[in-house]
Parts: sequence; structure tokens; C-alpha cells
Amino acid sequence: MRLLENLNHADWEAIGQDLHRFAADLYPICRSITGDGIRRTLAMIGDRIPLQTFEVQTGARVFDWTVPKEWNICDAYIKAPNGKRVVDFQQCNLHVMSYSVPVHATMPLGDLKPHLFTIPEHPDWIPYRTSYHKEEWGFCLSHNQMLALEEDDYEVRIDSTLENGHLTYGECYLRGHSSDEVLISCHACHPSLANDNLSGLAVATFLGQFLSGRKLRYSYRLLFIPGTIGAITWLARNRQSVGRIRHGLVLTCLGDAGGFHYKKSRRGNAEIDRAADHVLRHYSESPEILEFSPYGYDERQYCSPGFNLSVGCLMRSVWGGFPEYHTSADNLEFIRPLQLADSLRICTTIVDVLDNNRQYRNLNPCCEPQLGRRNLYPSIGGNAPGEQTHACLWVLNFSDGEHSLLDIAERSGIPFCVIREAAELLCKNGLLSPVPNDGGELTAGVPDGDRLSAFTTGFPASQS
Ligand SMILES: [Zn+2]
Repeated sequence: MRLLENLNHADWEAIGQDLHRFAADLYPICRSITGDGIRRTLAMIGDRIPLQTFEVQTGARVFDWTVPKEWNICDAYIKAPNGKRVVDFQQCNLHVMSYSVPVHATMPLGDLKPHLFTIPEHPDWIPYRTSYHKEEWGFCLSHNQMLALEEDDYEVRIDSTLENGHLTYGECYLRGHSSDEVLISCHACHPSLANDNLSGLAVATFLGQFLSGRKLRYSYRLLFIPGTIGAITWLARNRQSVGRIRHGLVLTCLGDAGGFHYKKSRRGNAEIDRAADHVLRHYSESPEILEFSPYGYDERQYCSPGFNLSVGCLMRSVWGGFPEYHTSADNLEFIRPLQLADSLRICTTIVDVLDNNRQYRNLNPCCEPQLGRRNLYPSIGGNAPGEQTHACLWVLNFSDGEHSLLDIAERSGIPFCVIREAAELLCKNGLLSPVPNDGGELTAGVPDGDRLSAFTTGFPASQS
């Protein structure tokens, strides 16, 4: 059984429920770019996959940036004169602007207002705001909440700390046959926001579970990092070894009901760009392929000119393109089990293409070999051959040592998995042989059967 057959037989409803449950477990944690929220999040990811966490000291120089002070928060509120909390961090962690410095004061509404943030066009939603690089404090609340505040004196308290400490990130490294790597990266720095943050974390974690313990061609490195400063810090600390990264994918916004979007790497024609394009065209409805732009998620750092890594970004709805983005409406209802499961299926299928794409050589290149004699061609003439036979003909014709299976899949319009199966069949019949050392340390010493069976045992049972 092959990966895709296996995926087709998977219980996607149950996997989707598991993904959603994991996101729901992470949802209440008040994460930021540093602090105990991201540590607790990494600990929960580490219960599912082998995760090593790293702590980088405040003040460390990382390229043009400096690792910031560590922020933690216990409580925050705005209290009316009658003692009632009119804005309460305990009800929703979005109520406090992330990285707010501590404050405890009583002030009239007029003095408080410059510190309040709302979304007038969505008067019931709470915005998500941060002030990482300027020492400020602020509260986020629904516009209706703010309109209900009467002219009065309010007790304002933010019980936070902003002190020298650490920036924390997590890395899951899954060793494959080759030391060449596939990088999967997602940000883990947003508080209770489901699509932008938790959907990517959940899908990446389950992808890590799926790949764990399997025989893989590439080594896989999954990063769970604070956005921007985390990617910059990781790149600064791993500058010498990023040359191993052959392909990479940033995962985010994978749980909403929108169609898939893939943003290409800066290179624009990298293998990851072609693999994602191929998989989305064959396995999703109306996907959109976006050209690279230097704005978005951490692909910005991986694709900065000093690195120019082959890293794209997979999303459903695009950041900033849905009204719920960076608001309290990006909640657990906004992400759906089936969409999460489908995103995991797409990610796994892309990984399957990357891990199996290689070149072969036709051992019988002078005219077509007699396929009928080998039961590879319909014995009764007159009927058009089926897709598998077509795939065999395409693979034989283009396996000249110049074309990879993905090249052949693209040119023929036949899904990669069918092309790959045809190549296996032709190898078994002695008509095809893998080109050795195709693109590095490939599969020498790993029999095809073993390597491919790496994907045959399905998703691990939920550990929750
Ligand atoms: Zn965001």
C-alpha cells in the first residue's frame, strides 16, 4: 500500500477532531514572542513529538536585531468605581496588548482612551495588538465595550513583567537517510488565535507524528518559533548548516474554510514550488498560487537574499485577507476539523512528492519495450490503455537521466503518485533503474520497498 492509498483510507474525520482538540488545548495559553506561554506550548507539542527546546538570552545579537526582554503576565484589568472589572484579562488574553509594561494607576476615561484599541467596523470583536519594540501598555476591547464606559475614574492594572530572560523555540529533528533536510516552520507566538497560529502548530505537530519513526529519504526539521524574531534568531544560530535545507514550507492559517493558497519561494521555480503546485492542482479545489513577495510570515527571513532558501508558504486564507485575522473572531469555531485534516493531507502529499522525486534511466531506450509480454499492456487490442499504462509509457519515454518523476508528472498531467507507481512497476520488471546519486545522497542502500513502505502504516493513534 502506498502513502496516498493509505491517506485515502485514513479516518479523516477522526484525525480532524484530534487536530481540533489539540488546537483547543493550546488555545487558552497566553503566548507571546517570549515567556512562559510559548514554553508551555512547546511542552505540549513535546508530548507528541521529540522536541528539543532552546533558550537564547535577552540581548543576544541576531543579525540586525537583538533578542528582546522576556515578557510574562499574571493578570490585568480595568476596574470601574463600583469594583467591577469592565475589561478582564482572565476572560480573554487578547484584552492586553502583548508586551504591555506593568501599570497600576487610577485615571479618568480621557487619559485611559489613548491606551484602548477597538475595531469599530466589527463592534463585538476584540483586536490583537502587540508592542514588542516600544515600551507601552494597552488594552484591547470590543468597540461596544468601550462605548459602554462612562466618564469616570478607572483603576487600571497590568500585572506583567518585562525583564532580562530568554527567547524560547523548539526543534523536532527526524533523521532520514540523507543529511539533506526539509524544513517545516510555524510561528507559536500568538495568544488565543486559532487560524493564525494554532492551525499551523497543530498540522505541523501531526505531520511530525506521522513522519516519526519512518524511513525517510530526507531528514526533517520542524521549527516551532516566535514569528520574525524567532526565525531571525534561528537563522543566526544555524547559519553554517542551512545549506542542508533542500526544501522548506512555512505552515499557517490552515484551519479556515477558505481554499488553499501557496506562496512561492523567492526562487519561484524551486522543487517545493513545483511540488506544492502539483499537489494542490490535483488534490484541492481552485487553489491559488501566489508569487513571492517580501511580506508575510517567516518565509520572509528564509528567503532573504543572504539565504534565499527554497521555502514557500502554505495557507488557506491569506493573512490580512479575512476579517477575523488578528481578532477574537479567529477562534475555535473559525477553524474546522475537516479543513485541518485536509490541510494535513495536502502537507503529507507534498512531503510524499519531495521524498520520492528522483530520476530513473530507461534500460531499454531503443523503441518501446514489449509491455504486453510483461503484463504491462492490455492484451486485447482496440481499447485505449488505462492511466497506469499511460504512466508507464511516459516514465519510459522521459527516464533518460534528465527528467525527474515530478517533471514527468507535470508534463503528462498524471498525478505524481501514479507516475511513481509506474516507475516502481517498471523497476520490478527490469525496465528501469534509479539514477544513482540523483541530487545528493539519495536512496543508495535503501531498497525501494523499504523506503516506500515508510509511508504505509497510517497516522499514529492520538496520544490524548
Ligand atoms: Zn499573526
